[in-house]
Amino acid sequence: MAASAAHDSATRRIVIENCAIATVDANDTEYASGHIVVAGNRIEFIGAGKAPENLENVVRRIDGTGHLVTPGLVNTHHHFYQWITRGLATDHNLFNWLVALYPTWARIDEQMTYTAAQGSLAAMAKGGVTTAMDHHYVFPKGSGDLSGSIIRAASEMGVRFTLARGSMDRSEKDGGLPPDHAVETLEGALADTEATVKKFHDASFDSMTQVAVAPCSPFSVSTELLKQGAELARRLGVRMHTHGSETVEEEKFCHELFGMGPTDYFESTGWLGEDVWMAHSVHMNDSDIAAFARTKTGVAHCPSSNARLAAGIARVPDMLAAGVPVGLGVDGTASNESGELHTELRNALLINRLNPVHRERALNARQALRLGTYGGAQVLGRADNIGSLEVGKCADLVLWNLNTFLHSSIADPVTALVFGAAAPVTASFVNGKQIVENNRLLFADEDAIAVSTREEAQRLARIAQA
Ligand SMILES: [Zn+2]
Repeated sequence: MAASAAHDSATRRIVIENCAIATVDANDTEYASGHIVVAGNRIEFIGAGKAPENLENVVRRIDGTGHLVTPGLVNTHHHFYQWITRGLATDHNLFNWLVALYPTWARIDEQMTYTAAQGSLAAMAKGGVTTAMDHHYVFPKGSGDLSGSIIRAASEMGVRFTLARGSMDRSEKDGGLPPDHAVETLEGALADTEATVKKFHDASFDSMTQVAVAPCSPFSVSTELLKQGAELARRLGVRMHTHGSETVEEEKFCHELFGMGPTDYFESTGWLGEDVWMAHSVHMNDSDIAAFARTKTGVAHCPSSNARLAAGIARVPDMLAAGVPVGLGVDGTASNESGELHTELRNALLINRLNPVHRERALNARQALRLGTYGGAQVLGRADNIGSLEVGKCADLVLWNLNTFLHSSIADPVTALVFGAAAPVTASFVNGKQIVENNRLLFADEDAIAVSTREEAQRLARIAQA
């Protein structure tokens, strides 16, 4: 596949011009009116003014007047299956919410994970996400090929994808939160994770599918699963992901069980490092942040979910100042029903300003856009291939329509995009292939997904009540 993509890059070109461009490169280069030439699956030219004359094999020329072009958005934390358990336990903190929902989650099957993945992916792709991830950690016995069903849904929609193969082996009988029948054995979880990496992980430059090793959280996995999971990931050369420092309850749990806070516990189990990214990292003291910076451990910042579950405000400006790689995550849609990444760009900016230390200087619009693009690529270990618009990188980009009444009276396009309402997507490209046209998904039937996700949500509710 890589060979044919390289061959295409010599032949078929798409030209986008007359648009504002925010490249999110190292210098934050922007063009008030510029052009981008996509050749095959790569960015070939980018700059001010019109595209070069005499380009051969131009199959499409897009007039981007009134549009802003940015790198495609990168989501770094999600649980797709939760699309069919949205709007439940709406007034709970994390632990109570987990206890309320685990019995339902423990009944999912392959048809449900496939359908829920379609809903989750559709919401993100329609909103400008070009790289998605799913941290899937519920594997009930006999539930089918859940990982395969999720990867199939992403591949069909045309989205670049990382599956974080999750796992849980600490159930209620061991002092954990999940019910006993919802967890795997240590050996079973590790064996299937290894098989999933070997079957699906593609390490190439323009890879569309990657797999990470991702035990769920300190309060649902054993110390041994964390340790052996880290060893497995490093032996296979793939990334590592888990939840960490999300709530005060988790901090208390770690102190009671392990005699140390979450960051020290992660360090003791091999879970800090440049190949690791952690979801949330809300309750971080100065030495925790210094440890993340020293080890280049990444963070998936999920402001809407943190607010929904009253978890707290992550110290994003302090992490960025210390050099911690930070991306954005919608988190599962049972704790963030919107499921769109634009909401996180906006909420990252707004919620961090509620931090009494930083206030209005916490984050600006360009920093928020960087979190949602380049920062996400860094966290997923893909900053060399995606996350900014630069010659030679994969052609993952979005044309945001700022012509409508929603944005047309805001002069600065990046301000319009981040502070304003979610902008309609005129076109979105992944690996040089268009997946959204005039705010509609090209490779999914949105009306059919509306029906199938409702049906699967109702079927799951019925099974869970039985
Ligand atoms: Zn999560």
